[in-house]
Formats: sequence, structure tokens, C-alpha cells
Amino acid sequence: MIYKPHSGLEDFSRVLLIEDDTSYARLVELMLNESELFRCEVVNCTTLEAGMATLETDDNFAAVLLDLSLPDSTGFSTLESLLTRFPNQNIIVLTGLDDEAIGVSAVKAGAQDFLIKRTGILDGHLLVKTLRFSKERKQIISRLEEAQRAARLGHWECRPDRHFFFASDEVYRIFDLDPSLTTYSCDDLLLPECPLNPLLILQWKITPPQERSEELRVRLSSDEILTVLLTCKAHQDVDGGVYYRGIVQDITQQKQAEELRKARDLAEHTAKVREKVIASVSHEMRTPMNAIMGFSSLLLQTPLQPEQTRYVTSILQSSELLLDIINDILQVSALQHGHLSLKSDVFELRPLLQQLHSVMHFRAMEKSLSLEISCHDDVPDKLVGDPQRLSQVLFNLVGNALKFTDKGGVKVTVTLEAHSERQVVLHFAVKDSGIGIPKEELEAIFEAFTRITDKDRFYEGIGLGLSIARMLVEEYGGRLWAESEVGAGSVFHVHWPLLMAAATPAEQSPLVNDSLYAIEPARILLVEDHQLNQLVVKHLLEKKWPQLTVEVANHGDEAIQMMDQRDYALILMDLQMPVRDGYETTTYIRQHLTAPKSRVPILAMTAHIQSTVQENCRNVGINDFIMKPFEQDQLFRIIHHYLSSPHL
Ligand code: ADP
Repeated sequence: MIYKPHSGLEDFSRVLLIEDDTSYARLVELMLNESELFRCEVVNCTTLEAGMATLETDDNFAAVLLDLSLPDSTGFSTLESLLTRFPNQNIIVLTGLDDEAIGVSAVKAGAQDFLIKRTGILDGHLLVKTLRFSKERKQIISRLEEAQRAARLGHWECRPDRHFFFASDEVYRIFDLDPSLTTYSCDDLLLPECPLNPLLILQWKITPPQERSEELRVRLSSDEILTVLLTCKAHQDVDGGVYYRGIVQDITQQKQAEELRKARDLAEHTAKVREKVIASVSHEMRTPMNAIMGFSSLLLQTPLQPEQTRYVTSILQSSELLLDIINDILQVSALQHGHLSLKSDVFELRPLLQQLHSVMHFRAMEKSLSLEISCHDDVPDKLVGDPQRLSQVLFNLVGNALKFTDKGGVKVTVTLEAHSERQVVLHFAVKDSGIGIPKEELEAIFEAFTRITDKDRFYEGIGLGLSIARMLVEEYGGRLWAESEVGAGSVFHVHWPLLMAAATPAEQSPLVNDSLYAIEPARILLVEDHQLNQLVVKHLLEKKWPQLTVEVANHGDEAIQMMDQRDYALILMDLQMPVRDGYETTTYIRQHLTAPKSRVPILAMTAHIQSTVQENCRNVGINDFIMKPFEQDQLFRIIHHYLSSPHL
């Protein structure tokens, strides 16, 4: 099968013959009609003016056969007049036997070809060949025009010495001109008000073989502003004449896309900077919070007037609230930057749910709500995963459910969604009978800092809980989503994949819950540069265990000197300190001191929760961490653990 592209021209072509000898015209028609390769109709005009008038209204000709000697124009100017008005036409010049030189010049000037006519005779084969070539050329030009239209790109050429200027239709369209109504001559370009005048100005700036590009802002009659890229290259032909060729391209869309990209980059950068600032400010706030909470706790243990007790309790409660917010911000930042280490510990699910109930049912009671938690029998109890993160998500969902419910209650159900030999997917559903969430907000509530405002009620919170919960669930390969109906209540669903623990008894968490925390008399070293923190830790520990002596070093060097003097049962090490920081001090102790000093348990006190910090600590030989600001119970438990069993 032969592929025949659609040309826009009929198979049956038309040729315009501008020739005053009508018998000659008839001859051409006969020749063409005899040809099997090229069937065409010949339209004959006997003067240049008539020919141009015909082209003005009808330019659907495969070619124009032009005799240079016409009643109203003779010689080379006949061609020039026609080319200037119709630069896109395929003009084939008919010359006499002795005028071959004229034919060659005609081609140089822009004619497509020339044919020599002897008296009454024309080489028929040559004529057909030339016309077929014309037809193909016209097809190529028409496809080029289509491509230019699609790309919003046009080309132009200018030869000032010959007063020649041609621009493709798309150049006119880009400048909001109709190419069938407006075309400009070389002289028109000189006028400053001519829309194509910038092309001429561009030419003045270069000489062969230079090339130049400029961007131009064009205001259209519709007031729309386009950005146009003008490109021009200067050439020199063999006769030394200079001519210019160029491209005009509408790049408005690319420009807009570029500006959008820049705006997006800037917005992303700003968001990153903002996050960084929030995270580092929050981090800085944790150390003073440590002092506020520690001293408030100590103050509560001293004899106080009832009024004073109320004030200190309020300080403590507000500090806890503030600390929750700071921790949320830090956790979002850690999650967003992939800085959270995933844990997999053996744990029991039902005690975890019991703890959830025992903490939350007080809140439910305060609002006279019911709280029910049920776990299906087929859900295995001993599992491997991260019980802290799972609790965090459930506490958040139940906390929200209670917060946004005024009557009725909250029901948590745990069912088995799927299971294989080693793995289960648990389905937690937290259902409330609260205010509900509009359908269009059901996804937005999982975005950071997004809350649904209610002008009549104030609910505490900064809109981070759900975004943290979703990120945590997804970190562990699960899914968190919500269903809701305004006024009827909401259900928050979690699918959480977990491994099943081996049948052997579950490993006990290293931090055994020992309410007595009994320890032998011991001496421990606190390495900390912050004076308030020194006081808080020393007071808390010595009050808890009067048999404990807490000595303080202000920095690493001092700690090493003190360790030279005596042995310590444990070291509490701040990480950021002047002179010698916690990492360097630990490295020194592990590498340069002799046993048993080199094997003393070292617990880092850090406000950083990133996994990289924890990894660096482990690499230098730190045994464990105490997060700042610490909960007293956490501090007591971890110290008890390390003082009551042999380590290293
Ligand atoms: P916040 O700490 O502000 O409550 P969250 O991220 O936990 O932040 O929740 C975001 C918002 O989602 C809440 O402010 C609330 O508008 C809506 N929301 C969350 N849980 C519920 C619920 N159980 N019922 C109704 N609205 C809820």
C-alpha cells in the first residue's frame, strides 16, 4: 500500500500561466493534458496586472508560469514585482533560447526554476517534471505552515539591498495580524509603528556571520501581553550582499511555566526554612521547659499553702500542654525528614488497650461520655511492632473522639483484617457520636496545621495530631482514614500490619515497671553545662534516692578529671557542651580509661529525637538515652535499670 499524505492540493492541479501569446497557452494546456503523470487545468492571464489580480483572490496554484515579456511589464522587473507581492508562490520563469542567463538570475532572485521555450516548442517532459516538483514543494510548505502554527513559531527573511522581506503567516499571527489581510514590505519595517519593526532593529545590531536573540513583550489589541523570542542571523551571499534570516517564537507559555516553577521553588524553600526555624526554636524551648517542669515538681513536694499549690499545679499543667505542642512540632519535622527510627519490640496488645482505657476513661467521665474498648477473640495478643507508636496513634484518635463529642460516647473495636502465617493486619476503628466532619474536609484534616474552625466553640489543639498519626501509620506500612457525617459522628479507621511473636514467652521490656525502684547506695556523675538542669536532676535524684550521691561536672574535661579521682556507678551525659562535648567525652572514656572505669554505663541526655543522633550515640559507646525534658518516671526507671543490674 502506498501512503499518500493529504496535501491540501487536489490530485487535479491548477497552473497559472501569465503569457500574452494565447496560442502558446493552448499548447501548454495540450502538453499537460497528454501527460499521465500530471493532470491539470491551466488558467491563462495575458498581462502581469491580470495575473496578480488572479493571485490576489485565488492562490491555489501548484505553480505560476511567467513569461518575462508582457504587454504591461518586461524583463526582470516582471519577476521582482510578482515575487515581492507573492513570495510564497512557485514561480517558473519562461525564457527565450538566448536568455538562459536571465533564467539563472531569476532563480537566484527567488524563482523556483526556469524553462527555455523555443518558438512554439516547450520541452514537455521538463515542464511536467518542474510542475510536479512545484506541487511537492507546495505540499512541503503547507506542512511547514501547519507545524509552525502548532508550535507558534514563524520564520522570516530580509534582503535590504533588494528591498525584499518575507515573513511566514505564523509571524503575522503571533503579532495578532491576519496574514490574508496584512503583509509588510521591506520599507514598511522602517516605520516605528510597524509591529514587525523590532525585526529590523535586531538586524541593525549584527553583521555576518553573527546571530542574536532577544525577548520582546508585545501588547496585543486585546491587551493580552505576549513574550516573543526574536532570533536573527546575518548571512552574506556569493555576491557580497547581506541578508538576514530569523525566527519569531511565542514563548509566553514557557515563560509562565518558568515563573510558576520559580514561584513554586521559592515557596518550597520558604516552607523548608520555616520548618527549620520552627523545629530549632521548639528544640531550644525544651531545655528551659525541663527546668520549669522539674522545679515545679520539686516545689510541689515542699510545704505549700493551698493557694500556692493551685498556682504551681497550674504552671505544671500548662507546661505539660506546651511540651506536648513542642513535641508534636518536633515529631512532624522528624517524620517529614525521615528521621524517625522504626522499632520492633515484642509486646502484648490487650494490656496496651487496657492502659488506653484506664487513662482515657477519666477524660470520658469528665464529659459524662461512655468509653468502650473491645478486642475480638481471634486477634493474637503477643505481637512484634512498635507499641509506643501504636499507643500514640490510638491515644490521639480516642483523645480527638472525646474532644469532639458532647453526648453519647466513644467505642474502639479491634478486629483481624488479614493474616498470614507470620503477619497480621489489625483493624482499629474509633467511633464517636460527636460533631462529625464535613465530607469535603475528610482529607484536609490529615494535613499539618489544618483544623475545622467552629465560631461558636473553641477546641484546644494546633492541628498536628492527625497528620502525625497518619505519617506514623504509613511509616509502619499501614493506612489511616476517616468516615463521618456532620452531626452524627465519625469513625477513624487504622490498618496496622504487625508480626506475630514466636510462641516463646515475650521478651520483657528492659525498663521493668518496678514501683519501688530500690537501689543500693551509689555515686553517679552528671556531666551538664546548664546550671538549672544540673540543679533539677541533682535534686530530683537525691530526693528520690537519699542513698544516691550525684556529683556534677560542667564539661567533658572536668568529668575525665573527676573520673581519675574516683569510680562512678553511672554517668548522665549531656551531648552539647563547651570544651569537650558528650560524644568526645564518651569516646575518651571508652578508649583511654582502663576497666572498670571504661565500662561505666553512660546515658545521654538529649533533646534530639532523630534516629541519626541516636545512631551517633551508639557508635561512640553510649548505652541509652533520656529524652529532655524528661518525665520523672522515665528518669527514675532508666537509672534504676542501669544501677540494679550489671552492664557491659
Ligand atoms: P487538633 O490537635 O487540632 O485536634 P488534629 O490533627 O488531631 O488536630 O485534628 C485536626 C482537626 O480534625 C480537628 O481540629 C478537628 O477539626 C477535626 N477532627 C479530628 N478528629 C475529629 C473527630 N473525632 N470529630 C470531629 N472532628 C475531628
